[in-house]
Amino acid sequence: MKKPDRQRQSFYSGIVSAVIFFGAGLLCGCGNTDRQESREFIAMGTYITLTACGSSAGEGLAAAEEKITALEKLWSVNDENSEIYKANRSGGEAVHLHKETAGLLRSALETAEKTGGAFDPTVYPLVEAWGFNSHEYRIPEDDEIKRLLENVGYRKIKLEGETLRLPAGVRIDLGAVGKGYAGDAAAALLKKAGINSALLNIGGNVQAVGRKPDGNKWIIGIRNPFDKGGLAGIIEAENTAVITSGGYERCFTGSDGRTYHHIIDPETGRPAESGLASVTVIAESGEYADSLSTALFVMGQEKAAAYWRNLGTAEPAKETDAGEKPFDMIIITNSGELFITEGVSGNFTPADDYTGSLTVLEK
Ligand code: AMP
Ligand code: MG
Repeated sequence: MKKPDRQRQSFYSGIVSAVIFFGAGLLCGCGNTDRQESREFIAMGTYITLTACGSSAGEGLAAAEEKITALEKLWSVNDENSEIYKANRSGGEAVHLHKETAGLLRSALETAEKTGGAFDPTVYPLVEAWGFNSHEYRIPEDDEIKRLLENVGYRKIKLEGETLRLPAGVRIDLGAVGKGYAGDAAAALLKKAGINSALLNIGGNVQAVGRKPDGNKWIIGIRNPFDKGGLAGIIEAENTAVITSGGYERCFTGSDGRTYHHIIDPETGRPAESGLASVTVIAESGEYADSLSTALFVMGQEKAAAYWRNLGTAEPAKETDAGEKPFDMIIITNSGELFITEGVSGNFTPADDYTGSLTVLEK
C-alpha cells in the first residue's frame, strides 16, 4: 500500500464545474459538425439520462431507450406482467423465461457462487420486509427476519436452459444487476448505430462509450456519501462502466434513531454492516460491475480487497475467484477513508475538500 498522490488536485479544480454541468445534462458539446442529443426518462425505478454524439445520435438513443424500457418490463418486481413478478408467484411451477432473463439470472447465480453468497438474488423477501420496495420503511422483528431467511439461498433457484423453478416462498430480484446490464445493452445499440461517443447515466450508474468528442476521457464524479451533492473525487474513463453501490442511495432512519439502507447481507437478513459507505466498481461490463459493487459492499473493505487481489493469481480460492475478469474499485468506508485499486489510481483525483485518507491497494 502506498500513500496518495495528490499532485493532480489542481486539475480537479479546473474541471469540477464540467462535472456539475454534466450532471445537469449540459454536456460539453460535440464538434460543430456532430449532433449531440440527450434523452431523459424514468425506468427501472430511476432517472436515466442518455447522451450521444454523432449524426445517428437520435436513432441510437431511441433504440437504447426502447431497450431499457423493454428490460424493465421483463424484470420489474412490481409489474404484474413481468417475468420476475410471475416467477415470484409461481408456487413451485416451472416458468419459461426470455433468453435475456435466463442469461442474466444464470450470470447472477455465478456471481452468487463466486462471492460466497454476498450477492444473492433470493434476498428479495428481506428487501420487501424492510420496505425498500414499497418505500414504507420498517424494522422487521427478529422472528420475521428468521422466518424469511428460510427462503433465502441462491442454490434454491433451479434454472435449466430457459426454464426456471422457484420453490414456493422463494422470490428473486435482479435489481442489483439489471441497471448494469441495461447500460451494456444500451451501449451496444449505440455502437451498432455508429455512435462512438456517449455517456449513459442510469440512476448514477455510468456507462462511458468511447471518449468525449474532443478526444479526452469522460469525467465522472464519485459521490461523497457524507455530503449530498458533493463529490469524493472524479475519475477519467473511456469505454467502461463506473457503478456505485452506496448505503446513502436508499435508506431511512428507524424509530431507534439508526439508519438502515437497501443493501442486505443475505446471512443476517439485515442491511449490511460491513463498515462501508459506498463501493464503486470500474469494469468493462456494466453487468459485472453492478453485481460486484453490491457484493463487495456486503463483504466490507478487507474481504473486498482480498477478492480483488485473488483475480489472476495462480491459485485463487474457489469461492473468491471472479473468473479472470479484471476490475478496479473505489471504496469509501463509514469513517471516510478512501481505498482505491492501483489500476484506477492514475485516473482518480480526490476532491480538494474531501478530507478522508487515501490508500492505493496493490496486488
Ligand atoms: P445495488 O444498488 O446495485 O447495490 O442494488 C441494490 C438492490 O439490489 C437493492 O435495492 C435490492 O433490490 C437488491 N439487493 C439488496 N441486497 C442484495 C444482495 N446482497 N444481493 C443481491 N441483491 C441485493
Ligand atoms: Mg449492483
